[in-house]
Amino acid sequence: MGDSVISCMPIDSKVIISNSGLPESKLFGDLYFSREDGLEETKYVFLSGNRLEKMFQEQKIFKIVELGFGTGLNFLATLNCWKQYYRVGKKLSYIGIERFPLSSEQIFQALSRWPELEHKLLLKNYPTKHRGVFEIKMLEWTVELTLIFDDINNALKHNLNSVDAWFLDGFAPSKNPDMWSEFIFKKMAEYSSESATFATFTAASMVRKGLEKAGFNVSKHKGFGRKRDMLVGNIRSKPINYPNHLSNIITEKKAIVIGAGIAGASAAYSLNKRGWEVTVYEKENDIALRASGNDCGILYPRIEAIWNNITEFYYQAFEHLLYILKQDTLSEICRFNQCGLLILPQKEEEIVRFKKIDLHSKESYVKLISSLEASEISGVEINNPCLYLPRSGILSIPKLCKFMLSQERIQVKTNTEITELKFENNRWHIFSHGSLIDSAETLIIANSYAAETLLPLQSAQIQKIRGQVTYLPEMKSELKSVLCYGGYITPSRNGYHHLGATFDKHFFSLETNPESSYKNLAQLNKFLPDFIDQGINAEELKGRVGIRCYSKDKLPLIGLCPNPGFYSTNNNGQHPYLKGLYLSICHGSRGALSGILGGEIIASQINQEPANHTITQETIDLINPARFLLREQRKLL
Ligand SMILES: Cc1cc2nc3c(=O)[nH]c(=O)nc-3n(C[C@H](O)[C@H](O)[C@H](O)COP(=O)(O)OP(=O)(O)OC[C@H]3O[C@@H](n4cnc5c(N)ncnc54)[C@H](O)[C@@H]3O)c2cc1C
Repeated sequence: MGDSVISCMPIDSKVIISNSGLPESKLFGDLYFSREDGLEETKYVFLSGNRLEKMFQEQKIFKIVELGFGTGLNFLATLNCWKQYYRVGKKLSYIGIERFPLSSEQIFQALSRWPELEHKLLLKNYPTKHRGVFEIKMLEWTVELTLIFDDINNALKHNLNSVDAWFLDGFAPSKNPDMWSEFIFKKMAEYSSESATFATFTAASMVRKGLEKAGFNVSKHKGFGRKRDMLVGNIRSKPINYPNHLSNIITEKKAIVIGAGIAGASAAYSLNKRGWEVTVYEKENDIALRASGNDCGILYPRIEAIWNNITEFYYQAFEHLLYILKQDTLSEICRFNQCGLLILPQKEEEIVRFKKIDLHSKESYVKLISSLEASEISGVEINNPCLYLPRSGILSIPKLCKFMLSQERIQVKTNTEITELKFENNRWHIFSHGSLIDSAETLIIANSYAAETLLPLQSAQIQKIRGQVTYLPEMKSELKSVLCYGGYITPSRNGYHHLGATFDKHFFSLETNPESSYKNLAQLNKFLPDFIDQGINAEELKGRVGIRCYSKDKLPLIGLCPNPGFYSTNNNGQHPYLKGLYLSICHGSRGALSGILGGEIIASQINQEPANHTITQETIDLINPARFLLREQRKLL
């Protein structure tokens, strides 16, 4: 090289910057950009290779993913191009993935030779950490830069749906083969929008063949400067099982939500946080009068014996709810009591499962504790080891719904039952008993089991299950935390413990009945025989009834609504999803958690963001409303 080395940090990236500012990775023995002219190379390979000037003029919302963010040169060159064509209402999302991030100083040294680049803007908010997901917003031109500092295989587990252009800028395949694997090409195809393009400086045959196999058309172009060839191309065909690949062009930030329970309230709230105007239609005369009416709801995540996607989903939901509750005085408003929750084993064998959970879980989330500790924490005598969730507790679900729906730019229209939907001229029109009520490009169905009356959802085999909670007057023993044992009991609130809840599959009366109270009391008695004081008469106890909604696999349906026509034998080129139509239903007995996260996931999908940054594609697939149809289809193949 002939340039002397003046810096060598951070350790991980093993980058050296020469006196002339040319960065090189010692780890991979390769340069970050061309010795001839890095900026011109970027413009030639990535900007022209993806025809960005043309695309920026034509498309309102554009998403680029760069594999190998390096010095940020490609991003800054792209930003300059975007600025030329930027108009109000347009949005650029740029996701840069990098395993060995450079430091701010190294970037500054590498890029300061090009004063026309906005490197100061990048460095102002450039992360100091070397692992994680970071967002930098450039509001002036509506640009969102997301930096994923992680191994490429982990990074591609994030939901990067609807990518319009790919920059493949890892070190050369011979020097860093991990950046050019079949897995990566497959993921690229999955995440591509229907007109996605890619460009790369290399013309290596394994890259060409890999991309072709994954579903891209690939062609060789003359390379930059002295390089003979490079590759460009576009998506040819996409795997059908990818849920969110509808490149939905939104022309208005206005959405309709049907149902003002926790699922609908959360979707409205998360969209509102992103600047959307939302109208919520509710059949009843107030918010959260149906399943979400539990004033003493418990935060009880589903935890499997292994840390699988189900455990992960509920863990994320739990953390998300706690995060929301930290705002202002919200925990006070919702009367959140972080009293902890204990799960008692229902059978001796269950302790083995608890031990497995203890092994794989974070202590701050859930841990196994002895019967002595459990007795001390709860204030009542417990004879078995228990799982303990120290940050769990009870809260008023209706108060949370009301808070979420009380935001500016959210309108709630009660006493309005939506009975019919029609899709015309790219908009969803909603009707109530024959009258057109409203229309929007984006519609979210959050009306629980009644969704079936509006849409063909047979594949999910939606099931209703009645539940009755019993209000038990405060007993002599002072219970300090929630106990779960198949049923559950909460610490006393306003003089009553809430005993929950029955599961009735065959009868759906909304009136309370004494038989259900007997069941709740009997279940408690089995686990805490000394808890209930003498003289309690089940017939006199009050309570509350709600109807839960379950899918075939007991997991919620969250995301774009599938188009059953696509899965029929004669689908005539129909789309796999119904454009602009989202579902958040089937939250079963854990809606305080899944309903809340569901709203956030949908809002981030609608806004075409990487969902919440922490939710992996596998987790999104788990709750994809099309999963049952996809499984059926796979069986037939
Ligand atoms: C007894 C009981 C206790 C529970 N306890 C807990 C708990 O402690 N913790 C927990 O996490 N979960 C609990 N759950 C479960 C949780 O309450 C549900 O999962 C959650 O409330 C579901 O919310 P949702 O918004 O999907 O449904 P809902 O709250 O039922 O909301 C749907 C809304 O849509 C409206 N609607 C229906 N059809 C139409 C239409 N055509 N047009 C307009 N509006 C319409 C309904 O009136 C309703 O308000 C409990 C459930 C029950 C039944």
